[in-house]
Amino acid sequence: MSFQVFGLAISRGVAIGRAVLVASSRVDVAHYFIEPSRIESEVQRLGMARDAVAAELGGLQRDLPSDAPTELSALLDVHLMLLHDDTLAGATAQWIRDRHYNAEWALSAQLEVLARQFDEMENDYLRERKADLEQVVERLLRVLAQQQGHATPSPGVDARDFAGEDPLVLVANDIAPADMLQFKRSVFTGFVTDVGGKTSHTAIVARGLDIPAVVGAREASRIIRQDDWIVIDGDTGVVIIDPPPIVLEEYRFRQRQSELERARLTRLRRTPAVTLDGQRVELLANIELPGDAAAVLEAGAVGVGLFRSEFLFMNRRGDLPGEDEQYEAYRAVVKAMNGLPVTIRTVDIGADKPLDRMSTHELRHEHVLNPALGLRAIRWSLSEPSMFRQQLRAVLRASAHGPVRLLVPMLAHVSEIRGTLEALARARQQLRDAGREHAHVPLGAMIEVPAAALMIERFLDDFDFVSIGTNDLIQYTLAIDRADESVAHLYDPWHPAVLELIARTIRKTHARGKVASVCGEMAGDPAFTPTLLAMGLRSFSMQPAQISTVKQQVLRFDARKTLAAIEHPQAGSA
Ligand code: PEP
Ligand code: MG
Repeated sequence: MSFQVFGLAISRGVAIGRAVLVASSRVDVAHYFIEPSRIESEVQRLGMARDAVAAELGGLQRDLPSDAPTELSALLDVHLMLLHDDTLAGATAQWIRDRHYNAEWALSAQLEVLARQFDEMENDYLRERKADLEQVVERLLRVLAQQQGHATPSPGVDARDFAGEDPLVLVANDIAPADMLQFKRSVFTGFVTDVGGKTSHTAIVARGLDIPAVVGAREASRIIRQDDWIVIDGDTGVVIIDPPPIVLEEYRFRQRQSELERARLTRLRRTPAVTLDGQRVELLANIELPGDAAAVLEAGAVGVGLFRSEFLFMNRRGDLPGEDEQYEAYRAVVKAMNGLPVTIRTVDIGADKPLDRMSTHELRHEHVLNPALGLRAIRWSLSEPSMFRQQLRAVLRASAHGPVRLLVPMLAHVSEIRGTLEALARARQQLRDAGREHAHVPLGAMIEVPAAALMIERFLDDFDFVSIGTNDLIQYTLAIDRADESVAHLYDPWHPAVLELIARTIRKTHARGKVASVCGEMAGDPAFTPTLLAMGLRSFSMQPAQISTVKQQVLRFDARKTLAAIEHPQAGSA
């Protein structure tokens, strides 16, 4: 029977494929396809892992003290039985043979299938065995990881080459932003999550993957089963499970249309972004990792307007990158951009971007009260002065290789401006003392807290440029958590208070002869391009995949006509 679930559309287009359910705790399990000639050896790898776990469990059983409770031995028996049961062992091997999944992926796919069957059991005792099954799979995954370090596809092999006929779409309850990054260049052609808002960082990274996607689809991962056929409508946020043939046909038609439209837009890549009345508009790109620079150039962006450097700091289990490692990463982007400007933002850790992996559920309920209002971004950097100076030195050093701009997130207080300037002055002095090369680096403030927008003049005394972070500006102006799907309907970029703060920031910045940019998601949404252009904005920064659509809007815009229509509204309608 066909079902529909509704969520928030975050990335255009239509994806049709078989569902791959991934548990949030296992998103870091490697997903890749096995070359046909390696399938039997992959099945053997799984078999070896099973033998190793059987030996482990047997050893535990042997070593049980004679006075251990009998339940313990019985529990180990249950684990051994689950390990050898054909619904785990045989079915997992079948995923490898039929679908060419790597062993880890096959195991987590089968775990999802079995976990659901356990959930549906009437008998409490049997239902609770799900936890045992998860423990057995954890053991197997651990052994597999030890067998070959961190699992990766064979070098030089394009995973898609070995995919079966059917495209695959990813379905998960939640995916942390840093985990989402691993799906860049992955096998999935679309994805759905239960949680998340339109401008949650998971959604932002997903938009960068440039595949149809829906977030905040609530029950999706519970309703969709492993291997179900689903349609993801990235334009409207609808997800259709097991679509009837007529619906499928309609979506296949739309899919072709949207692919043609994409191909047409990519032809604008090299066209300069100039309005009909000849005004140049700077279209820059947002990136998360140095490797994204290639996509920036490919999209025809004229520089990087926002490098979210915090992604270098995430999921490192406390082992944060030092000055040299950061310098290498920043230098790599600067070199790749080959003379085009690179705007590096200092770490914006906190809120929905914790340093270490934490599900949204954990973030919301267990660990931090109001993370969006907590120790985040510049507040965190100023509370870690030596780490902050390390980052500043790394950015300054990278400027010796090409034009670099420095951007500071979430400033609201004059004391934070002062703290930033002092840290920067010290970092510069330290480099001079050490005889390290660096060039002039313009300093920018992100305007993403209403307080900053309201005292923009004070910011302009000390900063060379500003970049409006509309994602947070909306969140903090309207008091709506941007990552919370339950209030997503109130997250309104068109709210007059939001538009007023943006327009004011642009106007006052231009009056001082400085550049104002927008780097939040509004910049990449073509629905807002005319409004932002009418406000005078001439610098936009967005995910590379959005550049050509926004450029199309710029090419159609005539500032003279728009201003005339605003000044003489009656004339246009006569
Ligand atoms: C913003 O808030 O609009 C922004 C660009 O920063 P981030 O999305 O990383 O918070
Ligand atoms: Mg922000």
